[in-house]
Amino acid sequence: MKRPLLMIPGPVEFESDVLAAMATPAHSHVSAEFIEVFGQALEDLRTVFAAPDGTPFVIPGSGTCAMELAVANLVEPGDRAVLTETGYFSWRMRDLLERHGAVVDMVHAPAGSAPSVEAVEAALRKGAKLLAVTHVDTSTGVLAPLAEYAAAAHRHGALVLADGVCSVGGQELRMQDWGVDVVLTGSQKALAVPAGLALVMARPAALQAFHARRAPVGSYYADWGLWLPVMEAYLERKAAYFGTPAVNNVFALGTSLRQILAEGMEARWQRHARLSRAFKAGAAALGLEQIPAEAYQAVTLTTLYYPQGKDASGLKAVTEAGVTLAGGLYPDLKARYFRVGHMGTARIGDLLTTLAAIEAAYDLPRGAGVAAAQQAW
Ligand SMILES: *Cc1c(COP(=O)(O)O)cnc(C)c1O
Repeated sequence: MKRPLLMIPGPVEFESDVLAAMATPAHSHVSAEFIEVFGQALEDLRTVFAAPDGTPFVIPGSGTCAMELAVANLVEPGDRAVLTETGYFSWRMRDLLERHGAVVDMVHAPAGSAPSVEAVEAALRKGAKLLAVTHVDTSTGVLAPLAEYAAAAHRHGALVLADGVCSVGGQELRMQDWGVDVVLTGSQKALAVPAGLALVMARPAALQAFHARRAPVGSYYADWGLWLPVMEAYLERKAAYFGTPAVNNVFALGTSLRQILAEGMEARWQRHARLSRAFKAGAAALGLEQIPAEAYQAVTLTTLYYPQGKDASGLKAVTEAGVTLAGGLYPDLKARYFRVGHMGTARIGDLLTTLAAIEAAYDLPRGAGVAAAQQAW
């Protein structure tokens, strides 16, 4: 059977050059070729994260590993952390913060929105070492106002940590300009690389907080102290060892980052915004409602309620029509909506195909979504 187009919010489709890089013959992690590719990838990540003064970490692991790699090093037992609620992945962040001993003040928000900047600032006013934000919550498709939150955090002397797993490389994120201290992601989302790499960018204030710790880091594998010399060595085009890098994933990352930088970050953010507008216009023309209100709609994915009287069983027909989509993830709404990822390599044709498959599978007006998306594009 022909492989369906993968339009879920990660893993996403890969460019063929990225896949080919995964098939690079075995290399030692201390070979000259690998040192150059890894060093260049680490440098390129500073541009992708818009953090020229950042220190990159790339280690084997998924996005959740990247979350732990950030939290374990920033939090000491008893530290107060403010957390913005946006859905499933903000709850995962709470679990991690608490696991590492933080006292978490979660600022609540209903499904489909994020807390107001005023509410976040009120929580920060009580004193906190850290503000943690899920930039795009993949469960609801909610985009949080990260720049505004970060400005509020700095007024109160708190570090800012952002989970950018569903944003870095797709959703506009200007880490240094916005004053975000740590951003993390996984390779399989908007960076369009096979799953397997945890990526973290830490700016100077975060590293300072790490070096000022009194308690040892509660995770051996995640300890920045063990990985920092390795990252610094590869940046200087030297080899160093703590844990074996995911060599082939790093080759693939290097290839994808070159493609991303050839497009340019501004152009890439704009392309994702334009694709998102077109897809959302198409969905609206089919009468499909989004979970987030307009002010909170992410550009990397779209979350849509099923048409009246329909449910997840129709997703199978969408796959048979040639497109794989994802079901719901937010517990209270799980059975009532589905998710479409359009990050990474997505093109307008992929989105039109997706809309056509939805029209066919859910018996919606044929061509109405496709036409509206073309119009918006
Ligand atoms: C996917 C995702 C994660 C978890 O990443 P895994 O690679 O599945 O561990 C965390 N946060 C957000 C926002 C995500 O989209």
